[in-house]
Amino acid sequence: MQSSGKSQTDSNSTIHEHVACPACGLLCDDLTVSRNASGILEVSPNTCARSVQFFQRPLVDTSPRIADKSSTLQEAIAKAAEILKKANQPLIAGLGTEVQGMRAVMQLADRTGATLDHMNSYSTLRNTLVVQNSGWMVTTLTEVRNRVDLLLIIGTDIVSYNPRFFERTIWNSETMFDQDTSKREVVYLGGRGLDTSQGISPAGVKPTVLECDIEQLPDVTAALRALIAGKQLQADSVADIPVAELAKLAERLQAAKYSVVTWISSAFDFPYAELTVQNITETVIKLNEKTRASGLPLGGSEGDYSVNQTSTWISGYPVRNSLQRGFPEYDPWQFDAERMLDNGETDALLWISCFQPEKTPPASAAPTIVIGHAAMQFEHEPDVFIPVGTPGLDHAGTMFRIDSSVTLPLAGLRKSALPSLAAVIDAIEAATQLD
Ligand code: SF4
Repeated sequence: MQSSGKSQTDSNSTIHEHVACPACGLLCDDLTVSRNASGILEVSPNTCARSVQFFQRPLVDTSPRIADKSSTLQEAIAKAAEILKKANQPLIAGLGTEVQGMRAVMQLADRTGATLDHMNSYSTLRNTLVVQNSGWMVTTLTEVRNRVDLLLIIGTDIVSYNPRFFERTIWNSETMFDQDTSKREVVYLGGRGLDTSQGISPAGVKPTVLECDIEQLPDVTAALRALIAGKQLQADSVADIPVAELAKLAERLQAAKYSVVTWISSAFDFPYAELTVQNITETVIKLNEKTRASGLPLGGSEGDYSVNQTSTWISGYPVRNSLQRGFPEYDPWQFDAERMLDNGETDALLWISCFQPEKTPPASAAPTIVIGHAAMQFEHEPDVFIPVGTPGLDHAGTMFRIDSSVTLPLAGLRKSALPSLAAVIDAIEAATQLD
């Protein structure tokens, strides 16, 4: 794995190689990004449309605003600090940032007694609750790339969330152990009308597809778990899938040398989806009694994995935690930002979104500070808006990959006057200490 770096500079352009892309949780680190004399970025063609959109988004030069009027950065920082100092129950939400930004946010939360919630918590919690309740056996992208022989995908096509997953991890041409990757098998279980084209092997072998409505996955995953555990099912079908097909799948998983079962928690948009995740992870654990298998949660966006990792190593908890009482507390229900806002349980909202301008704050009666992407447009202008740079575009940073075991450096690729979130948060924290 190589860190990003400039490989060539002349008077007209700069070329950065081995650039990591923060546009989804895969954090592909094989991109070449060139900056022309006008400062416009172009990405090498070996990538996906999502990363092109990320890297080629034009630089917007906006100044901070207080109550919709242009201000200096210092004035906006002072106003934000004033709002947070006055608040009894500040809430810092959105949290679309990288490791450095989140470290600074944790410091500010400690100083101001704030509650923390990420915009993706509704889905990341479906995984976190399982880890906290029963643990799991999951693996890394590198191990999948080198070892998988049967990939079971539950409730998603993957490519809608992680576009280059198959190219980088399943149909890779080389492995450490000379595996013939074209012989890998792929099974899609659950969901309807998914794009399964990427599951076709280079040799043209089509994947197995067992369709059901996504809301029926609790039944289907429970049935598969029972079959793997050696139970008999007193039914001919489960959610339109014949039990005989599920039994065949159970046999294939038991016969595989190294199966990987993957899912994306944000695709599980039904109540108590964490129990479906637990069915999957317990199935993996059962398989390991006789063969080798691993889980692989995928997805990831807006820095959610980086934010949760950083929060956990600093406070002991992932987000939906609070420092309001002077020590860290964790409660996925009590510290749900949406619930707190709906119930008037906060008197200041600081919303952060550095990656995407579309991720604007929910409507709130509380005084609102937004620190985020310079191209943000608001239906309701916040009390303070401070535009900041995007990690991996305007400044360097660090992010966790979706498998949480690898951090990668993000490069600053273009000249930007926008400050980093960490710098702005540090300045706000310093200003909260002034009388
Ligand atoms: S798959 Fe994800 S990380 Fe990789 S290039 Fe595309 S958007 Fe970026």
